[in-house]
Amino acid sequence: MKREVQIQQLQENPNLIWDVIVIGGGATGLGIALDSVTRGFKTLLLEQSDFAKGTSSRSTKLVHGGVWYMAQGDPLLVMEALHERGLMMKNAPHLTSNQEFVVPVYNLFDVVKYTVGLKFYELLAGRLSMGKSHFINRKNTLARLPQLKPEGLKGGVVYHDGQFDDSRMTIALAQSCIDSGGTVLNYIEVSGLLKNEKGKICGV
Ligand SMILES: Cc1cc2nc3c(=O)[nH]c(=O)nc-3n(C[C@H](O)[C@H](O)[C@H](O)COP(=O)(O)OP(=O)(O)OC[C@H]3O[C@@H](n4cnc5c(N)ncnc54)[C@H](O)[C@@H]3O)c2cc1C
Repeated sequence: MKREVQIQQLQENPNLIWDVIVIGGGATGLGIALDSVTRGFKTLLLEQSDFAKGTSSRSTKLVHGGVWYMAQGDPLLVMEALHERGLMMKNAPHLTSNQEFVVPVYNLFDVVKYTVGLKFYELLAGRLSMGKSHFINRKNTLARLPQLKPEGLKGGVVYHDGQFDDSRMTIALAQSCIDSGGTVLNYIEVSGLLKNEKGKICGV
């Protein structure tokens, strides 16, 4: 992962035809570049600043199945995201961890809603589940979250999701991309797109 080597690869091959040029070295760009290079495409990625300088170092740092998509009534999307979460936890155990959450509940309707809803969330993960979801009483909830308003508290619902280091994951993607033969450079801004005589984009 040496910058001089990467620059040399560009300078030595000024007429090289790239199959894929990716603009932006955040999680999306580096993910695409890694996918591309591992499919055998000659791949170049250019980032104008540090890798993960944008949103990819400022996320909530959750590898989640999108628990709120359940409320939107999209269990298939949740299932897909939970599957991806499970794969990421397996593929990158050094960048991820199991995070327990407690949802405080203040009325009986919420006790049932969150206990059933989060159990369903756990079951949708199947074999890749990260831990059992369950109801805990008022005393245990306050012991875990002493800053909660105690008046009217009925208890809490515990569930599990993934947590990750977003910028480290981005750097790991850059490293894997280079290891696989891609050319990945930061501090190079793409200032425009080149078009051929038919008006089709043919370079940057
Ligand atoms: C508040 C918040 C919380 C989030 N929480 C989570 C979460 O918990 N879990 C999760 O998985 N996702 C979360 N996300 C979503 C996730 O962070 C984004 O989906 C992801 O970071 C987007 O990555 P990106 O590569 O598309 O964008 P960016 O990380 O913004 O990367 C774009 C890159 O393109 C570069 N660029 C732009 N123009 C040029 C140019 N002309 N030349 C060269 N480079 C250029 C920029 O410098 C930048 O580095 C959250 C997002 C937000 C905003």
